[in-house]
Amino acid sequence: MAARAVLVLNAGSSSIKFQTFRIAGRGLDVGLRGQIEGIGTAHPLATMTEAGEKRERKLSSAEGADMRGALVLLAQAIGARAGELDIAAAGHRVVHGGAEYARPLVVDDAVLAKLDKLVPLAPLHQPHNLSAIRAARQALPGVPQVACFDTAFHRGHAQVAELFALPYEMYEAGVRRYGFHGLSYEYVAATLPEAAPEIATGRVVVAHLGSGASLCGIKGGRSIDSTMGFTAVDGLPMGTRTGQLDPGVVLYLMQERRLSAKDIETLLYKKSGLLGISGVSNDMRDLLESKAPRARLAVDYFVFRVARETAALASALGGIDGVVFTAGIGERSVEIRRRVCEGLAWLGVELDAAANERGGPRISRAGSRVSAWVVPTNEELMIARHARELLGL
Ligand code: ADP
Repeated sequence: MAARAVLVLNAGSSSIKFQTFRIAGRGLDVGLRGQIEGIGTAHPLATMTEAGEKRERKLSSAEGADMRGALVLLAQAIGARAGELDIAAAGHRVVHGGAEYARPLVVDDAVLAKLDKLVPLAPLHQPHNLSAIRAARQALPGVPQVACFDTAFHRGHAQVAELFALPYEMYEAGVRRYGFHGLSYEYVAATLPEAAPEIATGRVVVAHLGSGASLCGIKGGRSIDSTMGFTAVDGLPMGTRTGQLDPGVVLYLMQERRLSAKDIETLLYKKSGLLGISGVSNDMRDLLESKAPRARLAVDYFVFRVARETAALASALGGIDGVVFTAGIGERSVEIRRRVCEGLAWLGVELDAAANERGGPRISRAGSRVSAWVVPTNEELMIARHARELLGL
């Protein structure tokens, strides 16, 4: 008999990643997974991996012309496995749930209409997330579509953590600090009781350091504050995004440099961050290997800002018991973890160099007043858990 499964979809501008999770007792076992990339380009490519075996198929540009085509292919691939996989729900990563949505929900026409209204708040991600939901509704008729929001874990922040000091009607109109990477933080927070029990109920700063990067201050498992704000360009410098920037710079770019809104968007999201400073690469691995002085400067700036903002969140938390590293850089870069921990030595972080080399889970010495940890994130599994729980599967 086919195993019931949850399909998790994470759609970007030109790619869609998917994973299937078989419902096995209380657990969720990852099965078929993969991605379709290059959607809308001349060379779309489908990659599927199962049980360690990877297969690639070049698609015709007609097959991979848009999200609908990609979802139809995906539905066919899953349909071909109907004997083994019975998709009981599809869970979607949706970047913005606005002020209203604080938890996952099943999408219907009314919800889609509300999520459409949030497109201006996340123009680079939300439209693709929503077109994947629409395409999945058509490709998998009758399968409930569950939206899981990157903002949801941060709802419930104190108002001072949500405000900008703009005229108050702006706040009422939704111009506020939402915070993102919430599915990652929620997963890490849920994992701490097992992975790092000493700090699970304490005050923790989680550093999600990937190509997108942010920090979240968590107290007793709940988000208190985060470095990302109204959009996912705020806070830490990232692969190609600026992170925090004096708004006066944007005025200068408009008024003196005569850049259009579109040019400024491209500059802030695509040409800045590690790539902008280094001129070499947006990939931390390249920068750590490079001898170019500006590659080193980009890494220095990244480390400086991670340490600085961690201390700011320690203040928001009223103290700090632990620091947790996660995502691509946080899970894999021994050097970045070492340097960030050195920058936090004054707060009481004492790194255990050998444990850091091993990748943790605990990377601080036994007597360290503030402990440091590596906890791998898994946003897809978090989405699958939400879909399962919401639908009682
Ligand atoms: P995304 O935000 O795209 O999901 P990831 O969390 O997978 O990204 O992180 C991707 C980033 O992780 C890459 O851009 C790369 O800079 C970084 N990375 C991966 N492995 C290493 C490593 N061994 N050392 C340093 N950085 C790494």
